[in-house]
Amino acid sequence: MGQIVIIGAGPAGIIAALQAVGVHAVTLIDLNDTVGRKLAATGAGRGNLSNRNLNADMYNPTKAQKFVQDVLANATPQETLEQLERLGIYTYATDDGWIYPVSNSASNVSELLDAHLRSSGVRILLSARVINLVRTANRFTIHIEGSQEPLAADAVLLASGGKAAPQLGADMDILQSIARLGHTLEPVLPALAPITTAPKPIQKLQGVRMDLTLSLFDSKARLGRTTGNAIFTQWGLNGPAAMNLSHLVQTSGSHDYWLSIDFLPGQSKQLRDLLREYQESEIPLLVLLKSILPPKVARLMVDKCDIPAAAPVRSISRVEIEKCFELMTSFRLPVTGVRGFEYAQLSTGGVAVSEVDSHSMMSRKVRGLYFAGEILNVHGPCGGFNLQWAFSSGMVAGKAMAALTC
Ligand SMILES: Cc1cc2nc3c(=O)[nH]c(=O)nc-3n(C[C@H](O)[C@H](O)[C@H](O)COP(=O)(O)OP(=O)(O)OC[C@H]3O[C@@H](n4cnc5c(N)ncnc54)[C@H](O)[C@@H]3O)c2cc1C
Repeated sequence: MGQIVIIGAGPAGIIAALQAVGVHAVTLIDLNDTVGRKLAATGAGRGNLSNRNLNADMYNPTKAQKFVQDVLANATPQETLEQLERLGIYTYATDDGWIYPVSNSASNVSELLDAHLRSSGVRILLSARVINLVRTANRFTIHIEGSQEPLAADAVLLASGGKAAPQLGADMDILQSIARLGHTLEPVLPALAPITTAPKPIQKLQGVRMDLTLSLFDSKARLGRTTGNAIFTQWGLNGPAAMNLSHLVQTSGSHDYWLSIDFLPGQSKQLRDLLREYQESEIPLLVLLKSILPPKVARLMVDKCDIPAAAPVRSISRVEIEKCFELMTSFRLPVTGVRGFEYAQLSTGGVAVSEVDSHSMMSRKVRGLYFAGEILNVHGPCGGFNLQWAFSSGMVAGKAMAALTC
């Protein structure tokens, strides 16, 4: 029986520990005082654990997609969900494929996982921050802040997550040890974060939550496009549609970004038909627009077109209507940046996947050192893709460590 140390009691570390315990002695370390603290806050407290429509090509960066594909084949979403089900975490999918626990409680998921770790014999060290990881002969030495007694291990899994939401436990200092061991680290930046924009005129839309299509441009090209739910706030845009584009906004250097907003995704024809039917009517344009758009958006559109709120449709020229459509489908909004790590759900960057074996998650540089979860430079959109990545990569690492002959 060998000694395995797992750094990080998030979904990746937990599922790995459950694979390897029993075969080896497993110690799970976390700087938080509870297991799965970030997991307990996911999906607005409901825990969006996975997604029915999951594909490797939905992950970034594109150069990591083959790696992701291999990992997802070695521990499929189905396999990880079955594992969760065996632990009492039953799931259901929404119409759009987002998978949640039947309890709708992410903290219950963390609680259950904690109970299973303890009952299966995993040694759990909480409020313990790993400050250094050193390779010595065939073993590892793990140094914990404030402790004179380093731990020794035959294999180490680094599942210490990313830099997002530091208030829930995020500490990238350990990456310095990884760099010293010879690994390449990609720059760590906020992702799945709200996008900040010029305040005018969208401050008038504050509080509006709707489905829309967003395209992000810089001075040269369109960088990305998403359709989904967005929320207008006093400083810009929040919600999955905006967050899914945030990793494309570079926060350093001078860049000229802007969003093009389509307020009518899939609804343009419906609105055109409606306006055609009532083109000779006394009904104000604003009233007709409000049958499809939220009132604040409809009002902003007619104001921007200099159309009086009470103007009947019959009094409005074809040119004015077309101008209004142009605004409703390609509303231009300058981007000023993204909110920082505190507001982000994820970070990009971390350990380069080219230096990790996708069949075992073991480092190609340091024998016995494994990686799983967000610490790797892999990130997916909103919708359960990132927890699934943590579960699948953690399971591959756990299975490989269980197979070790120490
Ligand atoms: C508010 C919020 C909501 C989210 N909602 C969703 C969602 O619904 N669906 C989804 O797919 N994704 C969601 N995510 C993203 C998801 O939570 C992460 O991708 C996932 O938790 C990563 O799992 P992990 O195990 O790699 O890392 P983590 O869950 O971050 O776990 C890593 C652990 O390592 C510990 N640690 C770090 N450094 C050290 C150290 N030096 N010593 C000891 N311990 C250390 C940390 O305390 C942490 O507990 C959300 C993120 C946030 C912040």
